[in-house]
Amino acid sequence: MRKPLIAGNWKMNGSRSETRELLAGIQHGLGEGFPFEVMVIPPYPYLQLAAGLVKHDGLVLGAQDLSPHAGGAYTGEVSGAMLVDCGCRAVLVGHSERRSLHGETDADVAAKFRAAVQIGLTPVLCVGETLAEREQGQTEAVVSRQLERVLQAAGIVAFASAVVAYEPVWAIGTGKTATPAQAQEVHAVIRAQLASEDATIGGLVRILYGGSVKPDNAAEIFAQQDIDGGLIGGASLDADSFVAICRAA
Ligand code: PGA
Repeated sequence: MRKPLIAGNWKMNGSRSETRELLAGIQHGLGEGFPFEVMVIPPYPYLQLAAGLVKHDGLVLGAQDLSPHAGGAYTGEVSGAMLVDCGCRAVLVGHSERRSLHGETDADVAAKFRAAVQIGLTPVLCVGETLAEREQGQTEAVVSRQLERVLQAAGIVAFASAVVAYEPVWAIGTGKTATPAQAQEVHAVIRAQLASEDATIGGLVRILYGGSVKPDNAAEIFAQQDIDGGLIGGASLDADSFVAICRAA
């Protein structure tokens, strides 16, 4: 009942020509009809180019971040309305690289989540623990706190049009993947937390796993009960690998 979703976060990679090539390769590889949803998330400067190249309704264009503000004197920021204007339907919120490298707090992430929902973008809310937090047995507490702050700010109803991505920080770009069982355990905690507020929304929300997903480990991860797809970094930059991961869903 939950349609699988595979999202490719290109991070700060690519060029105009690489954007064209990658999108052509992905669309060729996916073919006409596919029973899952695919999202591509290029850097800001290539969004408009990408929007013009996307040919399939099941291929959604997303951005990597947005400003919590609607507009005005915020040099360097990009608003949700601008993203919609450029053809985006979704946006990452609270990616761990934003949290750790740019000092985004839970409150910042909650404000961005609200801004996305208000403008009609699907927020892909990223949560996850660091290695130190996992080793101290804090995984559940950290993920629940990150989720709770957004629930407090935006309310459970906002999650009816949101996606959650569980990305253990220690697994991002490191080649280390959470075992399917480790991932499933946290996904179940996230779903239960949302379901405790609204059983229907908790049951319907898609929760993606992210962190070194590759063609050879994707099927095993996606087979878990509460894992509805993936947020893919490195492997989303190669069309064949990304399409193979999509097919595993
Ligand atoms: P990775 O990145 O697949 O390269 O580990 C995932 C992410 O950061 O979204």
